[in-house]
Amino acid sequence: MAEFIVLDLNKVAHEVAERARKELTNMLPGTTILPVVELLAGLAEEASELAQAALKLRRVYDKTNPTPKTEGVAIDDLYEEVADVMLYVDQLKLNIVDIDRIKNEKMNRWIRRIEQK
Ligand SMILES: [Mg+2]
Repeated sequence: MAEFIVLDLNKVAHEVAERARKELTNMLPGTTILPVVELLAGLAEEASELAQAALKLRRVYDKTNPTPKTEGVAIDDLYEEVADVMLYVDQLKLNIVDIDRIKNEKMNRWIRRIEQK
């Protein structure tokens, strides 16, 4: 009898804790690591680092404003930042079908603009 009560209380405590966690952290469905606001902040931070890595690699190739960073290291940095951004995008559980549709539309527009040049 005592064992039954302990198990039941554990189940109730778990459900209450889980409900509180979801309410307190304002999580998107299926998001498990961090609250949405922290995922958005992390995405912005990593997107900024990705921009810096892309600009650094551009400097390596351009050579107008020399940098001691080698091409290999700059490419590794770019890959790392792309991975960081993709991790946050994955965790935000965005609608990949919608994103792919937008990507296709933008790719077609980009091609048209280049062809019309
Ligand atoms: Mg990073």
